[in-house]
Amino acid sequence: MNKRLDTSGIEPEAPEEPPHPASVRANVWNDVPNEKWNDWRWQITHRLNSLDEIRRIIRLTPSEEAGIAAQHRFRLDITPYFASLIDPDDPACPIRRQVIPTVQELEGFESGMADSLNEEAHSPVPGLVHRYPDRVLMLVTTQCASYCRYCTRSRIVGDPHAQFSQAQYDAQIDYIAQAPSVRDVLVSGGDPLVLPERILDRILTRLRAIPHVEIVRIGTRVPVFLPQRITGSLVEMLRRHHPLWMNIHFNHAHEITPEVSQACERLADAGIPLGCQSVLLAGINDCPNVIADLVRSLVRIRVRPYYLYQCDMVLGAGHFRTPVAKGIEIMESLRGHVSGFAIPTYVIDAPAGGGKVPVMPTYLISQSDRRVVLRNFEGFVTTYTEPGDYTPHNPATCAACQNQRAEGGQEGIAALLAGRTTSLAPEGFEQSHQRLTRIRWSEFDLDSQSDDQDKGGSQR
Ligand SMILES: *Cc1c(COP(=O)(O)O)cnc(C)c1O
Repeated sequence: MNKRLDTSGIEPEAPEEPPHPASVRANVWNDVPNEKWNDWRWQITHRLNSLDEIRRIIRLTPSEEAGIAAQHRFRLDITPYFASLIDPDDPACPIRRQVIPTVQELEGFESGMADSLNEEAHSPVPGLVHRYPDRVLMLVTTQCASYCRYCTRSRIVGDPHAQFSQAQYDAQIDYIAQAPSVRDVLVSGGDPLVLPERILDRILTRLRAIPHVEIVRIGTRVPVFLPQRITGSLVEMLRRHHPLWMNIHFNHAHEITPEVSQACERLADAGIPLGCQSVLLAGINDCPNVIADLVRSLVRIRVRPYYLYQCDMVLGAGHFRTPVAKGIEIMESLRGHVSGFAIPTYVIDAPAGGGKVPVMPTYLISQSDRRVVLRNFEGFVTTYTEPGDYTPHNPATCAACQNQRAEGGQEGIAALLAGRTTSLAPEGFEQSHQRLTRIRWSEFDLDSQSDDQDKGGSQR
């Protein structure tokens, strides 16, 4: 039976701003009216950056005091909202460790680098990193809502004098317009969501106007540091640029507050698929249970864990690094134990511009031509029997293979498997093997040696 709902006489509902959820606040801001507290501009202009301001809300350790007081350390700014999430009495608080410097930040370490990912060598124009065949990273600002102490781009981020100009945006966009291989533009920084709305709108509009740019994504931490910024007006602007994706940087379940849930709900309701990029950080989230709590909390607010990064070898962040084994252990604790879509890919962003390399526990234990031996998360060892009658895929009759675009020398291992290349040689390989061709084999008198060989006297 088809019951029809009588909707006559019901007024179309005006879209109404959802009530702002209850907010945690440090005592010093108790007298601030809600309209101000919930206004992202108020949050930005009242950020904490001096020893005196921070002392008013946290009982600082001597190491923190020295870190904050140090000259030339990486920029410090914390929104009152995020600062309110800090446990004032616990120096190990995972929120606190992300934004309050310690003296360790001033220490160098063996193999620490300013530009550990060698982004500048991959930049055809300032602020644009073209590392992968079909996508580019576009840095649109050096400013953030608050500054993470382990920032991978601390060499440029936070510097108020290193701002991107209109001319630089033009150069970045021109490069993309002239690079038909680019399908995906990752707009990052700094944090793109601290830009004035009309500037971001203009950048997105210009990117969307490039026919070969199929998707745009924004990398941001604003929903975590400054959820008040995710206003109805910002979301309305963003949704005009679909297909638009967004990756948000979360590291700990304590970051997921009612404000953050609401910000993510607005973004997700606007059809923006939300992902999470986390960094594995010593003393903050280097624990299987902390990460499991984080990923479960993320999927509840409709954010899908995307990457878990090994901490980069960046100067100032040495004390946040963990062994890679910790990441493997965490991945082991996730697979099988939490929903598959809550499991991020653990990656090491390789130094010298090697790019992201996925790393995981070994599940494939052994192989023969008939069977694959696998183990599952419980340690159950099982086999998969290979098909005996597989007709190999034929690239010659496959439209997708025929239409494949060249990747300008970045075809890599996939090209080896496809038989388009037979080997990949490291830089300098040929020169270092020139010695083999200095004497030609034809110059040997091979006949005179064959006697020795007959006697089993050949020498290797
Ligand atoms: C991370 C990154 C990307 C995007 O990589 P995905 O694996 O597609 O998320 C693109 N360019 C650069 C330079 C990057 O560091």
